[in-house]
Amino acid sequence: MKNIVRKRSQKTQDIIGKAYGCLTPIKRTNLRQHGHAIYNCYCSVCDGYHKMRRDTIVSGTFKCKYWYHGMSYSLTYRRYKSAHQRCNNPKHSSYKYYGQRGVRFKFKNFPEFYEWMGPCPGSGYQVGRLNDQGHYEVGNCYYMTTDQQNETRRMNHLKGCNSKTR
Ligand SMILES: [Zn+2]
Repeated sequence: MKNIVRKRSQKTQDIIGKAYGCLTPIKRTNLRQHGHAIYNCYCSVCDGYHKMRRDTIVSGTFKCKYWYHGMSYSLTYRRYKSAHQRCNNPKHSSYKYYGQRGVRFKFKNFPEFYEWMGPCPGSGYQVGRLNDQGHYEVGNCYYMTTDQQNETRRMNHLKGCNSKTR
């Protein structure tokens, strides 16, 4: 990484790596807007990146569009994470029904998931699949109630006892 020559002014004070709300600037770009440098920032809300003006970053007023009603965001994100875990974490209690059975989590990131799913309607909902032979991906996922999920699991379990096919 190139060392930026610092002028003795607040404007060029290093903000890289510091957290401002959900944003952590990781790299200054060559872009400027109205005299303000633009930074590429990591966003802890959507696990993605935003290009943002320095003054906006420092003010801490930026709100990622995936952050809305703190509650439903975090709920939706938890659903995203747990579906991901079911497919990718062998230590997860449900991995045997998913990852081990060849079910893959194909959403690239939280924004893609959110675009397709929208906010989780409530704590009694989980991410289900329309086609239970299919993967977690755009077109095959929806919110279903926990009861529906238990039923699906039970069915999968029965099928698993009868055959080893995927
Ligand atoms: Zn974001």
